[in-house]
Amino acid sequence: MLLGEPNRTDFDLAFRCFGIPVRVHPGFWAIAALLSLPAGREPLPVLGFALAIFLSILIHEMGHALAFRKCGIQSHIVLYHFGGLAVPDSVSNYVGYGRQYSSGSKIFVTAMGPGVQMLSAILLILFLRGIGKTDGFLTGIVGIPAAWTADPVGSLQDLRKVNGAVLPCYPIQQFPELSQAALGLADKNQDGLITWIELVDYEVELEAAAKFAIPMWKTVEGKSPRLYVPREMLDHFSGTYLEILDRADRGRDKLILWEDVVRGHLQRIRVQNEFLSIFCFGFIQIGLFWAVMNLIPVYPLDGGQIARELFVLSRIPNGVIKSLKLSIACGALTGLIGLRLNMTFIAIMFFLLAYSSYQMLQRMLGRYF
Ligand SMILES: [Zn+2]
Repeated sequence: MLLGEPNRTDFDLAFRCFGIPVRVHPGFWAIAALLSLPAGREPLPVLGFALAIFLSILIHEMGHALAFRKCGIQSHIVLYHFGGLAVPDSVSNYVGYGRQYSSGSKIFVTAMGPGVQMLSAILLILFLRGIGKTDGFLTGIVGIPAAWTADPVGSLQDLRKVNGAVLPCYPIQQFPELSQAALGLADKNQDGLITWIELVDYEVELEAAAKFAIPMWKTVEGKSPRLYVPREMLDHFSGTYLEILDRADRGRDKLILWEDVVRGHLQRIRVQNEFLSIFCFGFIQIGLFWAVMNLIPVYPLDGGQIARELFVLSRIPNGVIKSLKLSIACGALTGLIGLRLNMTFIAIMFFLLAYSSYQMLQRMLGRYF
């Protein structure tokens, strides 16, 4: 983005990265902290997420800055409350490059930001996949098939699809005392959990003894079940699934509780260190999600800049005005989609961007207000 940069403060963090001066305005940490708070109650996961935001955005701006350098333009990077900026150092330099800094170069400089940011996220995904770990984002949030990544939730969903593999059982404790006694008799393995099979068996037993009472299934009706995998089902599985189930199988007569299956599998496949785990998740989420958002053709996002240059390159008359109209339409549309998906932050941001494009358009058409 090429907007005005924020003033220097005493709390700026300044350093150089590959020879490019970088300045981090305190506003950046404020927004990073705000976005990281949902990551957890402990300081470590929050820090992990904040570091992921910092690195991912720094890589994005480094993409712009290094591309500027390639075009012979020096620049510096500012990270602040709206994200990041790569600012060309001298306007005369910037303008003076004239022919060399053509629309083509501008597209190159603009695209390199989201480009390297996405590439860094993809490299991390591939690395994690290589060591058999999950990023937790692609299948967990985006919904990409589990077989393509090492995500636990997805592969367990496949397991759940197998007929009879995952059944409900009911903790006896949750029933009124009177039912507890009856269910206790039906609970043959005395694990405090009543399964459907145990219920049916007990029903048959009662009928054989000609003791007719209220049907047993009525007792559990409407109660919230826990899930378990019957041990007999182990024969139906092989490979990874068998390994997962076996790991969760505790003791001889116990059921394989679904929560143990999930917990064990998550442990196996997640990055063990909590800080690193949240960092990876955040780095991939920011690197993919924000880079894609940034490519929507809305001013002054990278996508908006690229769209404008494409209009200019294509020599369509009034290209800049058309790119502003496109910006208004895409901003409003993305805002509506954001509302639909309950992404309030995204919705507000894009509505504001659409409105500022509208103002810009009015100014260009000579209507001041
Ligand atoms: Zn950018």
